[in-house]
Amino acid sequence: MKLERIAQEGYEQVVKCEDPDSGLRAVIAVHNTTLGPALGGLRMWPYASWDDAIFDVLRLSRGMTYKSAVADTGLGGGKSVIIGNPKTEKGEKLFRAMGKFVNSFEGKYITAEDVGTAVEDMVQVRAETKYVTGLPLDMGSSGDPSPWTALGCFHGIRACLEEAFDSSDFTGRTVAIQGCGHVGEFLARDLHKAGAELMLADISPDRAKALADETGGTVVDPAEILGVECDVFAPCALGAVVNDETLDKLHCRIIAGAANNVLLREEHGMRLKEAGILYAPDYVINAGGIINVSIEVEGAYEAERSRKKVENIYVALKRVFEIAKEQKISTNEASNHLAEERLEQGRAATTGA
Ligand code: NAD
Repeated sequence: MKLERIAQEGYEQVVKCEDPDSGLRAVIAVHNTTLGPALGGLRMWPYASWDDAIFDVLRLSRGMTYKSAVADTGLGGGKSVIIGNPKTEKGEKLFRAMGKFVNSFEGKYITAEDVGTAVEDMVQVRAETKYVTGLPLDMGSSGDPSPWTALGCFHGIRACLEEAFDSSDFTGRTVAIQGCGHVGEFLARDLHKAGAELMLADISPDRAKALADETGGTVVDPAEILGVECDVFAPCALGAVVNDETLDKLHCRIIAGAANNVLLREEHGMRLKEAGILYAPDYVINAGGIINVSIEVEGAYEAERSRKKVENIYVALKRVFEIAKEQKISTNEASNHLAEERLEQGRAATTGA
């Protein structure tokens, strides 16, 4: 196994691994461990080049630092990628080699499943390292992150309603959910229980129909969901849904959902503010899953502790809205400021400054 350290400004440790025996070609990036060990998933993707893989792992690991800092998980930010096709190139040898690679960080990086990897792959990684989460429940795991992500979104939407309407009462509030998958379906149930009226869209029509039947919601064409008149638009499918083309089509007061990278570019956050739309920054509102995993990393996993911490997404968002108002900036800029402030506090605490 050949390991090569890549110097990258602003990152603590970036290492490239080539292992001809197993065919592993992977990169681990530890962006920042000021607040704790760097946790972030292992993505498997057929990147066209090493440069593409490195670009992605750098971007994703930095995102994890900010997400964990605002969510107060006691974790830092990292990520790893394997270059390969997850449909055809998986195997025990490959994931065991990845486990050895992860282990070489001696706990500074903790891995988890991500796009292209699954629980069974993590079991093979576990054969070589203890620095892995997202294992089967009977191996002490914190389980499926989706209900926790949905719960965090629910409490995030509560904060948004309070900010926009001076009341966090869900009764009669209309919420349009784009994507009725793992997170969307749990979120729809929570919102329905709280009294919200739902509009549901999925490119798989049976999924939207089944969830609408269960929650008394209305099915909306996926091509129309972004433009429906509603109090809350909850993107739970794709990224980049707020862009130059979609901005004028939005008819909501709030955007708050689980999807990653909701804004095509950071500047779209300011455009939402100018349009009078309150935006819950994606990495703040969708942190329920990582918060739940952080409870697993701390020690014996307890769902109740996780629930309390996930509910704090409400508090984190209220703080983000406060900063945005004080500094007259967009909410996405405000969450970046909050993350940087927490990192600064962490640095000061460790250096005694
Ligand atoms: P999922 O794949 O289970 O569900 C996504 C759903 O969206 C699917 O049902 C799919 O058919 C539907 N969909 C795809 N394109 C669509 C479109 N154009 N219009 C309407 N529906 C469409 O994924 P998930 O785990 O529910 O995650 C949803 C989003 O939240 C993703 O962006 C994911 O990255 C993000 N996220 C998920 C978690 C988690 O814990 N699962 C955590 C953080 C962020």
